Amino acid sequence: MTADFQRICLVHYHEIGLKGHNRADFEKRLLSNLQALLCDYPVVTIHRIAGRLCVFLREGTDAAVALEVMEAARGIPGVARVSCGFKCERDLDAMGRAAVEALGECPDFDTFKVQARRSHTDFPIDSMELNRLIGAELCAAFPDKGVKMKQPDITVLVEVVQNACYICAHSVRGVGGLPVGASGRVVPLLSSGIDSPVALWRMARRGAVCIAVHFSGRPQTSDESEYLVDDIARVLERTGCIARVYTVPFGDYQKAIALEAPPALRIILYRRLMYKVAEELARREGAGALVTGESLGQVASQTLDNIRATDEAVGLPVLRPLIGTDKLDIIADAEQLGTFELSSQDAPDCCTLFMPRSPETHAKLDKVLAAEAAFPIAEWVQALADGAEVRDYRCPAYKPRRQRQGDSL
Ligand code: ATP
Ligand code: MG
Repeated sequence: MTADFQRICLVHYHEIGLKGHNRADFEKRLLSNLQALLCDYPVVTIHRIAGRLCVFLREGTDAAVALEVMEAARGIPGVARVSCGFKCERDLDAMGRAAVEALGECPDFDTFKVQARRSHTDFPIDSMELNRLIGAELCAAFPDKGVKMKQPDITVLVEVVQNACYICAHSVRGVGGLPVGASGRVVPLLSSGIDSPVALWRMARRGAVCIAVHFSGRPQTSDESEYLVDDIARVLERTGCIARVYTVPFGDYQKAIALEAPPALRIILYRRLMYKVAEELARREGAGALVTGESLGQVASQTLDNIRATDEAVGLPVLRPLIGTDKLDIIADAEQLGTFELSSQDAPDCCTLFMPRSPETHAKLDKVLAAEAAFPIAEWVQALADGAEVRDYRCPAYKPRRQRQGDSL
């Protein structure tokens, strides 16, 4: 159904409102992320209005499309809430009609209240009075619905600003956090498993641009895991948080390690090499940390001793946002994120290759370093990083670094 008024979506943000002098930067960042990520929808423009961002939809946009915009916007980091409604004139009659129209589009509800706000006192009616007057209109239009002040099903927002009024009713929670780009760049190690996409997402929600690295077992395994990682990246891409995936064919190097290193130490040596390659790619991208999906004690390689033995391989901090998270909670997050089903498919990657029967769970660093000394690690790291295949995704906050002469990438 087309409406009598211009449709809008109000985007609310919490955390970025608290950031003092950073606030303007963050609002700009969120605004440009929204502009880029909503460009496939009929959006005319997006403006900052009274501490919110207002998405103006094209004339003739119907309610179903407005809902799609709301769904897309709620998944974007930095968005705490999205409400759907209309812009109207600062005229009580128009405001009443817009409120009736907005409330009429809400899915099943029993109770409501009106919450008016005046950001300009040049409007003669104060917010208490507005609540009463528009509330009365709504009671008359929806006689079977009740007014409830505490925790109503729907809160009808009435925002009166200098030249216009914005009225919204249907409202959904957003993912919150900070806009992507507010916290620099990180390099998440992304498998096609359940945990690492969730770990990546946690960092993205804190404002980090993610440049992922996937180690595939190719040419020793098929490239199936690479397709799954691409599918996972496409899900993450909807929120603008993933800029690139580097795929590193890793199988031959694992084979070389497996042929010579003590079996119990293989996994740690694979992982140290993975971290070093990821660190090299992070250096080339100007990223400040690596990210993994490890959770303490989940598998043999995720003991404190092994974490220490792998961390030692790199100078950059290794962030593990899931370290204290229970598997069931990680699964719930993956379901919400939309990656769980993809991650549940089996695909051989480098983790399934050349696994020892009994991996070391309490690695001693001196033994690990002695075993590693048998391999030309520095040379391998350069060769693996140079051979990484890159695929780009839509991430408005990312700009590729300019290549300087002499840089290998
Ligand atoms: P996930 O569900 O993320 O695969 P996992 O429970 O299978 O994790 P591990 O196999 O020990 O645990 O991997 C721990 C972390 O190492 C992963 O979360 C990921 O960050 C990284 N990792 C593992 N395998 C790969 C891979 N093939 N490519 C890139 N990173 C990987
Ligand atoms: Mg895994």
